[in-house]
Amino acid sequence: MEITILGSGTCVPSLKRGSPGLILRIDGRVLLFDSGTGTLERMLKRGITYLDLDLVLYTHTHPDHIADLVPLIFACKYGENPRREDFPIIGGRGFKTYFRAIQEVYGHWLQPGLFRINITEVYEEILDYDLFRVIAKPMVHISESVGYRVESNDGKSIAISGDTDYCPQLVELARDVDVLVIESALPDEMKAEGHLTPSLAGRIGREAHCKKMVLTHLYPVCDTVDIAQQCRKEYRGELLIAEDLMEISL
Ligand SMILES: [Zn+2]
Ligand SMILES: [Zn+2]
Repeated sequence: MEITILGSGTCVPSLKRGSPGLILRIDGRVLLFDSGTGTLERMLKRGITYLDLDLVLYTHTHPDHIADLVPLIFACKYGENPRREDFPIIGGRGFKTYFRAIQEVYGHWLQPGLFRINITEVYEEILDYDLFRVIAKPMVHISESVGYRVESNDGKSIAISGDTDYCPQLVELARDVDVLVIESALPDEMKAEGHLTPSLAGRIGREAHCKKMVLTHLYPVCDTVDIAQQCRKEYRGELLIAEDLMEISL
């Protein structure tokens, strides 16, 4: 399993931190989690093109997490080498309605030609694939938000929170996981509803017994505060502060 953090930031345009996106490679399969602005270009920096994606999973449809979906489908249709394989997308409840609405706005530009888009909506789900399994659980952010856990057949695991506040479902999702990539939007003293702080993220990591934590979805103010130290109040395991294009191998 290889993880590439594509964007460690938020909706705030930043030269240091791009909008959320994460690539997970499992035995030759390429999974993309969220696709904020700039995702497609940052994938290229790691040698991954729009044609390489086997599965795309969305935590929710806030623009900082999904802005590059339209350019992705458009590239698959009109790029020099159009996609031919079916395009599977997983999203939370209401994702099909969301996708139909953007298809209506863009008309035939967003109607796939040589491939089909297969959307699966999840809430609390286990989806089995040949080389891995995807577990989804609802998060506390907006009604459709889901977090994901992926377990490979060789026993490795990762959990991805997406945007969320503290919730027992995330503790469950991240139970004993090898790596938890968790949002930590704002420092402890600036807690916002529907988002975590470093110490709340640390509490989840501690309660779930995660082996390693990666704090991500960092607003610019997080770079002016010692968020690692705030997280350390709760969590004693291995801790990383995400950076764009950071790679983690399992
Ligand atoms: Zn967000
Ligand atoms: Zn959000």
